[in-house]
Amino acid sequence: MIELRTPTQVEQMRPAGRFVADVLTALADAADVGVNLLDLDALAHRMIKERGAESCYIDYHPSFGGSPFGKVLCTSVNDAVLHGLPHDYVLADGDLLSVDFAASVDGWVSDSALSVVVGTPREEDLRLIETTTRALEAGIAAARVGNRLGDISAAIAEVARGAGLTINTQFGGHGVGRTMHGDPHVPNDGRAGRGLKLAEGLVIAIEPWFLHTTDEIFTDPDGWTLRSADGSRGAHMEHTVAITADGPLVLTARD
Ligand code: MG
Repeated sequence: MIELRTPTQVEQMRPAGRFVADVLTALADAADVGVNLLDLDALAHRMIKERGAESCYIDYHPSFGGSPFGKVLCTSVNDAVLHGLPHDYVLADGDLLSVDFAASVDGWVSDSALSVVVGTPREEDLRLIETTTRALEAGIAAARVGNRLGDISAAIAEVARGAGLTINTQFGGHGVGRTMHGDPHVPNDGRAGRGLKLAEGLVIAIEPWFLHTTDEIFTDPDGWTLRSADGSRGAHMEHTVAITADGPLVLTARD
């Protein structure tokens, strides 16, 4: 079911967006060569406790997950791109890390993700992150009253194809509200002018993710982490966006 939020409710969603943005900023600052993924999870866990927020991940157990997630963020490194289960791994020079974080504050959820390279970057990884960022920006720009869902998808896909990337539509964006995953599904590819008409008060996570040379993924034996079929690296950028009368409002915008 698609739920629309009143302007007052959108205002009430701001603290969650602010908090998720602050945690991602702290994680991006902390991520470095020699840092363990479990330390990043512990940092986010600490911030959740201090803020009196609630993790959307720790008890998460959907049909595609092997068991309750047990951590408060996703850390996907190199050929892992989505749903990476934090484990005992120390970041090495040149690693491409994607961090996905969602939490609830005052009963409202926000969801956001970013990719960074630790240490010495490969040129191609920086380019992939830059393309994914541009795709997110294009998707957000299309999130306007009167447009259709397909306009967001098509805007994302145009950036990806322009960079020679292929697109997996199995996992994409989603409605966000009292819970992390609601309707509608927001695919990273689609036809402009088609699909749901975008109305004021629709709040969605827009989240392009791409791999260098494939759009095929498989699930790691840990039951969660999604890796590229050919070992190529991935990037993932996500914001929670409210469609307002004044245009798209990025609730998880970082300073
Ligand atoms: Mg997310």
